[in-house]
Amino acid sequence: MTPDESDFWFLPLGGTGEIGMNLNLYGHDGRWLMVDCGVTFEAKTDIDGEPIEGARAEVQMADPQFIVDRREQLDGLIITHAHEDHIGAVPYLWERFRCPIYTTAYTAEILRRKLAEAGLIKKVKVHIVEAHASRQIGVFNVQWIQLTHSIPDPFALLITTPVGKVFHTADWKLDSGPVVGEAYREEDYSRLGELGIDVMVCDSTNANVPGWSTSEASLYKGLKHHVEQAKGRVVITCFGSNIARLRTVADIAKETGRHLGLLGRSLLNTHAAAKRVGLWNGIDTFVDPHHLGFLPRDTVLLVATGSQGEPRTALNRLSQNSFRDIELEAGDTVIFSSKVIPGNELPIEALIERLKAMNVDVITVDNSRLEIHASGHPAMEELKAMYRWVKPACAIPVHGEFQHLRANARLAKSVGVPEQLEGKNGDLYYIAPVKGIRRDAVKTGRLGLVQNKLKKLF
Ligand SMILES: [Zn+2]
Ligand SMILES: [Zn+2]
Repeated sequence: MTPDESDFWFLPLGGTGEIGMNLNLYGHDGRWLMVDCGVTFEAKTDIDGEPIEGARAEVQMADPQFIVDRREQLDGLIITHAHEDHIGAVPYLWERFRCPIYTTAYTAEILRRKLAEAGLIKKVKVHIVEAHASRQIGVFNVQWIQLTHSIPDPFALLITTPVGKVFHTADWKLDSGPVVGEAYREEDYSRLGELGIDVMVCDSTNANVPGWSTSEASLYKGLKHHVEQAKGRVVITCFGSNIARLRTVADIAKETGRHLGLLGRSLLNTHAAAKRVGLWNGIDTFVDPHHLGFLPRDTVLLVATGSQGEPRTALNRLSQNSFRDIELEAGDTVIFSSKVIPGNELPIEALIERLKAMNVDVITVDNSRLEIHASGHPAMEELKAMYRWVKPACAIPVHGEFQHLRANARLAKSVGVPEQLEGKNGDLYYIAPVKGIRRDAVKTGRLGLVQNKLKKLF
C-alpha cells in the first residue's frame, strides 16, 4: 500500500475514535509524514487509588507497525505540542522508525528531557522550527500556524503537496487571554480560507459542548477568591503541564502574601522547561518543600499534581498523610482546578473522600460559584468560527470518541462545509485524487508497558 504522485492520504493509527495516543500519517508520492506520537494513561486504580493487581499496562500507545514496515519511506515526525497524548510515545517508539523530528522550541525542550531520560538524546535529530515558519520535509511542505491551547507553543499545520492542502489543527481553543504565550489571531485562519483548503483535520474533544471555552485569564478571579477565603493552607491541584495555570497561581500567591510551593515532578519540570525557553516571567521564588511544614498555615499556597487521583502523585500522598514534608490539617483547603477525565471518577472520588475525612475543605468545579478550570479544547461556537474562517472543502474529525467525531462532523455541515469524512483508526482517508474512506485498510493495535517492557496488547 503506497500512495502515488496523484494520491494524498490521511491514515490515523491512534487517537481517532478514542481520546489519547495520537498517531497520524500523511502519504503522498511514495512517502509518509507522521504527525504526533502520543500515549494514553490507563485508569488502573481501584477505589482507594491503589494500583489494581494484574492490570494490563500503565501507559499505552498505538502500534506503529504499519509505518515501521515502511520506515525508509518516512520523511519525518512532527510533534504539534508537548501534551503526553501527542509526544509521550516518542521515547518508546523512536528506535523503530528513526526519522528526524520537527517541532517548536518549548515542545523541543520537553522532548529533550524525555530523550535524555531514555538515553536517546545523541541519536535523535530534532529540528527546531519557528512559529509561522515553513519547512519542506521530503515531499511535504509544512507551515506551522500558531493557536491557543492549555500548554505553551501549540501549533496547527498547513500540509501542502502538489495535489492538495490540509489544515491539521491538532489541539486548540480560541483564547484571547492565554496568560502564557500569544492570543490567537483570526487573520491567521481567515487567510487559509483564501488559499482553498481541501481538508481540515480537526480536534473533536468538546464538539458536543455548547458555547465557547473559558479563557485561561478569567480563572484568576475565581481562584483568587477561594484563596482569600481560606483560613489555613491552600493546595491547588491542576494538570502538571499547564504552565499558564501555574502562572496565575504564582500571581495570586504574590498578591495574597502567601509563600508558593510546587509539589510534583511534572510541575517542576514544566516550570524549568518554560523558564529555559523564556516563557516564564512570573515569580519563581518557590519555598523549599522541607520548610513548608514550619510556615504559618495561612501563609502557604501549594500547587500539587494529582488532580486525577493518580496513586504516586503529591496530592494523593497528602490525602494519605504520607507526604514527607507536610501534613494537611482540618481547615486547610484543596482546590481542584481541573476536570474529571472520564475513567478516573472512582480514584478522584476516593481522593476527595479521604480529604474530607481529614476535615479539609474541598472545592471543585461542581461546588465553586466562580470558574476555576478552563478546557483547552474548542466548544461548538469556536469550531463553527474556525470552519467559517478556513472554509475547507471537507472536514475530517479526529481526537475524540465516536460521539465527539459525529458531533464535529454535524457542526461542520451546519456551517456549510460541503463534505465530512467520519472514520476511525486504521481507516484510509483519501484526500486526493477523490475524497473517500477505505474502511479498515490497516490493522491497528496497541502497545503497552508491562513490567517495563513494550508488549502488544491487542
Ligand atoms: Zn493537547
Ligand atoms: Zn490531545
